[in-house]
Amino acid sequence: MSLPLLPGRECGGCVECCRVIPLDLPELAKPTGELCAYCVDGAGCRVHAIRPQTCRTWFCLWRVIELSDEWRPDRSGIVVRPDGIEDGVITLFVVRRTEMLASPELFGVVAGWLAEGIEVALSVPGPVGSYPARAVVTDWLRPAIEAGDPAAFAERVIRSLDRLAQHDWQADGITARYAVEG
Ligand code: SF4
Ligand code: SF4
Repeated sequence: MSLPLLPGRECGGCVECCRVIPLDLPELAKPTGELCAYCVDGAGCRVHAIRPQTCRTWFCLWRVIELSDEWRPDRSGIVVRPDGIEDGVITLFVVRRTEMLASPELFGVVAGWLAEGIEVALSVPGPVGSYPARAVVTDWLRPAIEAGDPAAFAERVIRSLDRLAQHDWQADGITARYAVEG
């Protein structure tokens, strides 16, 4: 899927998608959660000019929708995933717990999405090489949002993440293969 990107917004030092996204291509296969061997942590792709097509078209929603700089995934710990957006679901993939989870910023943005009729899912990574856990939590978060209660909202987010972390992880079955450079 290729979504129109916000002009002027760049990944900068973020490389989260080069870690979290599984790839199983002829020239590049890497298990979920393994930082791609072509990635220089904090700097980016060292095979940028010849990177696979999938890498050219996959962007998190921070590159697509109006979210503040603090939402950049390496700062917020949240990769806002694009998959599901066509069905009206936005997935917050929480790769690291940061202050963002209890912030008025997160509360306000999620409240805005719910007001627009967008569903919200939370997701957490499992061990390297396993699929993440994910659950739609719109109805679970809604009472705290309707009450205008950011503290109750944050508590519900944390409880969801704790529950997801107990998931019965399934292996993605991907064996690493790095052959982009031939
Ligand atoms: S090839 Fe480059 S863009 Fe693709 S996952 Fe690896 S480091 Fe990231
Ligand atoms: S997760 Fe988003 S901001 Fe970070 S490198 Fe990927 S596309 Fe760029």
